[in-house]
Amino acid sequence: MKVYFIGAGPGDPELITVKGQRLLKEAEVVIYAGSLVNPALLGWARPEARIYDSSSLTLEEIIDLMEEAVRKGQKVARLHTGDTSLYSAIQEQIEALEARGIPYEIVPGVSSFSAAAAAVRKEFTLPGQSQTLILTRRAGRTPVPEAESLAALSVHRASLCLFLSAHCLKEATQELATGYGLEAPAALVYKASWPEEKILYGSLADIADRAQKEGIERTALLLVGDFLRGRGQRSRLYHPAFSHGFRRKKDEASHHHLDETGS
Ligand code: SAH
Repeated sequence: MKVYFIGAGPGDPELITVKGQRLLKEAEVVIYAGSLVNPALLGWARPEARIYDSSSLTLEEIIDLMEEAVRKGQKVARLHTGDTSLYSAIQEQIEALEARGIPYEIVPGVSSFSAAAAAVRKEFTLPGQSQTLILTRRAGRTPVPEAESLAALSVHRASLCLFLSAHCLKEATQELATGYGLEAPAALVYKASWPEEKILYGSLADIADRAQKEGIERTALLLVGDFLRGRGQRSRLYHPAFSHGFRRKKDEASHHHLDETGS
């Protein structure tokens, strides 16, 4: 028996993976991050499952619960919002489990940055524009290395998605304007994929004010970059003049080839 760290998705209960849902259905013990995981997901747990909200527990209490269950031969589903690889504090849990010799597995999920792009119906990587997405946050109680300050990152003018910073958008947008300029398009996506989802559009100059007027201070992602305008070049992947491993070009004369991502 194991502890399963499961990316529970951004909110919509249908955005958990098939594997994550199966493990949640099978688990005797469910520990979920109550501040962000949609409680609707708990409807899939067994009626007799013991369910804990981790927001009221310490790391030591969480690990004790996990150890007790696994030693009894029970399965533990540990639900984290979005994907497990970003800002989910699983590393410290993993290390504590390893120290106690408790087996675990990680099941990834749909991150909120993917849900936010879907909400604004955009693609972060557009040919002829940015081919890079920066996932970051502003320093808060958790420090951010100086080399990763928003001002430093902004000079790349890559597509950017800002986590954990809805409460400090004034400062964040000013810092980002260093490289992007105040006119850069920005969108704030609140509770992507939840029924109460809200999207605000603007620029780095005004998005913070718009958010303040709407009273949005948490559970939101700031998206920044020209990708929001949606005007890239046409991709080569579906272009008739290019061929690649899975499709022959219409005109046999040229020999263009695409890299494996195809775009
Ligand atoms: N592991 C999560 C991130 C956890 S950090 C993931 O992959 O998405 C928590 C931050 O994620 C929040 O402050 C907010 O910035 C963002 N977030 C999580 N769910 C969100 C959602 N449904 N809509 C918008 N932002 C969300």
